[in-house]
Amino acid sequence: MPFASTTIRDRRRAEVRRRDGDAPCALQITADCQAVNGQIDYDAPPLDPRSFQVDHVVSSVEAERMGWSAVEADALDNCVGACRQCNREKSAGGRPSAPVRQTYVNPRFDWGPGSYGG
Ligand SMILES: [Zn+2]
Repeated sequence: MPFASTTIRDRRRAEVRRRDGDAPCALQITADCQAVNGQIDYDAPPLDPRSFQVDHVVSSVEAERMGWSAVEADALDNCVGACRQCNREKSAGGRPSAPVRQTYVNPRFDWGPGSYGG
């Protein structure tokens, strides 16, 4: 009976964690992640945004384009630890880095120091 894909994922997670220890998120592309310096909650339930996931540095799509085999694309060297939130953000956007979420301040109503004569 073949391994269920979750078993392979769990095994890869264990390998990455054994290699990197309790390393911070390798991506840190979301504001929430940056706010905690990429700290991953290794005990969080799987659906928690701060839970630990394996991110493929070179995505499977890129790997295929470069002619990598599936084995090469899934090699431990191509895997880093990331929080679920950043991993999702990366796969959703496909951007190298996401913009930092900022509070928008309309300049007309920015009465803070330095508004005038600065
Ligand atoms: Zn993160």
